[in-house]
Amino acid sequence: MTGIGIALSKGRILEETGPLLARAGLSPREDPERSRKLIIPTARRGVRLVIVRASDTPTYVAHGAADLGIAGKDVLAEHGGEGLYQPLDLGIARCRMMVAVRQGFDYAGAVRQGARLRVATKYLHTTRAFFADKGVHVDLIRLYGSMELAPILGLADAIVDLVSTGKTLKANKLVAVEEIMPVSARLIVNEAALKTRRALLQPLIDGFARAVAP
Ligand code: ADP
Ligand code: MG
Repeated sequence: MTGIGIALSKGRILEETGPLLARAGLSPREDPERSRKLIIPTARRGVRLVIVRASDTPTYVAHGAADLGIAGKDVLAEHGGEGLYQPLDLGIARCRMMVAVRQGFDYAGAVRQGARLRVATKYLHTTRAFFADKGVHVDLIRLYGSMELAPILGLADAIVDLVSTGKTLKANKLVAVEEIMPVSARLIVNEAALKTRRALLQPLIDGFARAVAP
């Protein structure tokens, strides 16, 4: 396809990107939350939004199926970022990737004693690397959502998930014990496209940069 595609996900990323898109002159011509279309033209001719699953955004951009994308650092860390240029922290969708356990669980003690921890998460690579770095042995349990259930039902000792207010943890009698990384959404660009289509892409990158720092 000709033109430029910007991959992003519905939900939090789209919500928080809306004002940036507007300031960059890239407002969608249809409300993506209501439309069933997955490719949505924007106010700028030749530039369209491509609606994907959050965790798929880096894949679309790395393969050049979309030129640009907006993805959380959590998703980028998990993907690895190969083939992606990450020129801009958009400063939106801010939260923290944390280790959390049941209230009363002696996490520090378990780590100190070198116990094997069962950790449930959707961030397998990031979690494995984090604990390997600390020299903690973990059995990873791959989940796709509702991570908070795992410690409650005895499926895991700990979870690795995103935390913003901490209300969900508290409501489920969990407590955050360690931060893995601060998270915010990033603009990502296909590395090869940036070289071959710089004249088209650079103005969009600059537009986002101006939208972020008004
Ligand atoms: P999904 O549930 O499919 O992962 P979400 O819309 O919940 O989709 O999350 C998409 C992205 O939004 C995440 O990858 C993360 O970067 C960001 N995000 C998720 N949860 C929060 C949160 N509680 N606060 C801020 N940003 C978040
Ligand atoms: Mg979610």
